[in-house]
Amino acid sequence: MKAAVGIDIGGTKIAIGLVREDGMVLREMEFPTNVDSGPDQALNKMVQHIRSMYSVEPNIIGIGIGSPGPLDTREGKILSPPNLQTWHGYPLVKKIESAFQTKVKLMNDADAAAFAEYYYSHRSGYNHMMYVTVSTGIGGGLILNGKLYEGALSGAGEIGHMSMESCGPICGCGKMGCLESFSSGTGMMNAWKQKLTRLQQPIDPNWTGKDLFEQAASGEMTAAEVVMNGVDYLARGISQAVQLLNPELVVLGGGVILAQPTFYKQIVQRVPSYLLEHHRRNLTFSIAEQGRNAGFKGAAAIIHAENY
Ligand SMILES: [Zn+2]
Repeated sequence: MKAAVGIDIGGTKIAIGLVREDGMVLREMEFPTNVDSGPDQALNKMVQHIRSMYSVEPNIIGIGIGSPGPLDTREGKILSPPNLQTWHGYPLVKKIESAFQTKVKLMNDADAAAFAEYYYSHRSGYNHMMYVTVSTGIGGGLILNGKLYEGALSGAGEIGHMSMESCGPICGCGKMGCLESFSSGTGMMNAWKQKLTRLQQPIDPNWTGKDLFEQAASGEMTAAEVVMNGVDYLARGISQAVQLLNPELVVLGGGVILAQPTFYKQIVQRVPSYLLEHHRRNLTFSIAEQGRNAGFKGAAAIIHAENY
C-alpha cells in the first residue's frame, strides 16, 4: 500500500509520520521546534527523520506539511506566523524538495487536521464538511465537494476571527470581539478572571480550563455564565458559517472540545436554534476522531488524495 510523509509544524514541537493510504501510521517521531535557533536546524532534523523513513518505505509518494499561517502555499513559504518568529519568509517547500526529489505540499495546520478527519473518518459518507477546532484559539477547515477548500491565500476557514461584536475583548490577532476572544479556552479563562476581579472575588493563579468547567458544572455562577456565553457565541459563529456554506457535517475537535464532552453537547444543542429550517434538517455533528496525530496524518492525506 502507498505511503506518504506528513509533517506537523508547531511553535513548540514538530511531528513527522509515515502514513499509509488507509491511515495506518507506520512510523512517527517528534522533536522540539526550538524557534529561537531558527528554521535551518529544524530542517536538518526533518530531513534526517524523513531519510530514515525511506528505509522503511522506499516508494514514498510525497511529503505534506501543515504549518501555522499565514503561508504562501503557492511559493511554498512560511510568511509570518506569530509563534514561528524566526521562520518568517522561510522557503520550506524548496528546501525539502531539494533534499528529496518528490512532491511537497504546504498547507495551513487547521486545514491539515480538517482533512485528516474527512479523509480517514468521513469521506465515504459526506462531500461537504466543516471542521472547527477549539483549544487555546479557534480554527477551522473546509471540505467542499470532497476537496479541501483553501481560499485564495490559504486563509479560508478562519472562523475564530469572525467578528461577533464591534466592541469586545481584544483578540490575539489585534481585532476586537472575534469569536476566539469569547469561546476559546484562553478567551473563556480571561473572561472568567475579569468577572471575578470585578466582583472582588479571589483568583487562584493555578486555575486552568479544567477548573473553569468544573466550577461551572458545580453551579458556581461566574464560571457557569462564562461557559454559557462561550457556548452561545460559538453556536452563533458556527451557524453563520453553516448558512453560508451549507455543509452536511460539522466536526468539532481541539483540546477544549475533547476534554469537555458537556461543552460539545451544549454546542450541538444550541446551533440548530440559530439555523434556517432548511439547513437544520440535514446537518450532522461529530466529534474529531483522528486524535493527536491529525496534523501530520492530514498533511499526508492530501498527498494520498492527489494521487488517488
Ligand atoms: Zn481575531
